[in-house]
Amino acid sequence: MHVIVVGAGIVGVCCAWYLRREGFDVTVLERRSGVAQETSFANAGIVAPGYVTPWASPGMPRKVLSYLFAREAPLRFTPTANPAQWRWLARWFGQCRLERYRANRERMQRVAFYSRTQLHALRDELGIQYEQAQGYLQLLRSPREIELTEPARAMLAQLGVPFSLLDPAQVYELEPGLYSATALAAGLHLPEDESGNCALFAHALRRHAEDAGTRFRFNQTVQRIVTEGGAVRGVVVARREIAADAVVIAAANASPELLRPCGLRIPMYPIKGYSATVALDPAAIGPRRALMDEAYKTAITPFGNRIRIAGTAEIGDYSLGLHEPSLRTLLKVAKDWFPGAARYSGAQYWSGARPMLPDGAPLLGVTPVKGLFLNLGHGSTGWAMACGSGRVVADVVAGRAPEITLDGLTLERYR
Ligand SMILES: Cc1cc2nc3c(=O)[nH]c(=O)nc-3n(C[C@H](O)[C@H](O)[C@H](O)COP(=O)(O)OP(=O)(O)OC[C@H]3O[C@@H](n4cnc5c(N)ncnc54)[C@H](O)[C@@H]3O)c2cc1C
Repeated sequence: MHVIVVGAGIVGVCCAWYLRREGFDVTVLERRSGVAQETSFANAGIVAPGYVTPWASPGMPRKVLSYLFAREAPLRFTPTANPAQWRWLARWFGQCRLERYRANRERMQRVAFYSRTQLHALRDELGIQYEQAQGYLQLLRSPREIELTEPARAMLAQLGVPFSLLDPAQVYELEPGLYSATALAAGLHLPEDESGNCALFAHALRRHAEDAGTRFRFNQTVQRIVTEGGAVRGVVVARREIAADAVVIAAANASPELLRPCGLRIPMYPIKGYSATVALDPAAIGPRRALMDEAYKTAITPFGNRIRIAGTAEIGDYSLGLHEPSLRTLLKVAKDWFPGAARYSGAQYWSGARPMLPDGAPLLGVTPVKGLFLNLGHGSTGWAMACGSGRVVADVVAGRAPEITLDGLTLERYR
């Protein structure tokens, strides 16, 4: 049985791996010249299932408003005339109610915890090294921020996720490179969470997948999905039809356009973010684990002898151009905590668009079109969910019940 996967971001690559392992004849079609060239290219790299939560949450609308007028804000909103933006925002707003937030969070975490188990299994099985680091530490600058973590701490306790609230001295002990002149009230430490280079992992897994017989075809833009009598027949690339028994759409932000002619409306919207990657000064002490500056929602992650600073959310900017004030915010946070650790003037900047659904959870599994499957909409936590999503979608294609329930994760929730 021939299965086509459209998209070779982290989600498509993981899915292709598991599909091949099921024994399918797998072809991955990717419009770029390699894997992980779009949103999976230079993200923050954090895999923290207990912190995988929807952006639509009860306090969020007010927070968003307050950011609009702040000088160094983690969020920027550009109103546009595009009705899709307003429709998405209206739906997002509707998901900020407490009961919606709880339901959405449970769905996302179900995938993320499962995904971490799959990631570890793959890592052990294939020996993939991807600049991984153990642990995740939130830096809280003020007593008010400590207070704001109370609901998160209650949730972590409820989930049984080990964590501890550390005083500044304990934080410096864990992270001796932190600049102590920057205000620090506490740190929230999650020792079981981790980070790693998503793109590096995708490249390594692609090689293993190829060795196992998966075909990767680059510079191949899928123009449309071909259906006949309510079932998928293949896809069209460069006006040529490629036949398939099943097609998995893992094309992130491009998915809605591909799926619309099949009668499927996906309320996805791109939320832009940035990262800066810098080489560490060999004599400096950099971060030992992934750090998150809660005030600026900015991550600082160690990647071997480099660090990556990532964050900001821009709604309404469709271009992937670099926005100077957002980059300044990233550098400000890095310099606050590690002023002398790197030559920040040599930073490599990147921007990517999170494929975001208004309720936060991805869309996985079947569609009303026989043989057409979804693996998309992973938003701000696609790396943390990619292995789990790939495995469950491969299970569904194989006609087997996945190890986690897909309640609330399929297209059913929008029907
Ligand atoms: C600043 C930032 C920080 C982030 N930090 C984290 C983090 O710390 N942890 C985390 O878990 N997640 C993080 N994310 C989110 C994560 O990067 C995404 O959720 C994830 O990369 C999505 O993977 P994907 O494979 O779905 O999308 P992509 O990587 O965008 O892959 C989709 C692929 O489909 C291809 N494609 C599209 N259309 C077609 C077509 N018609 N034909 C052929 N190919 C096509 C594209 O070229 C692309 O390669 C972050 C995102 C940003 C922007």
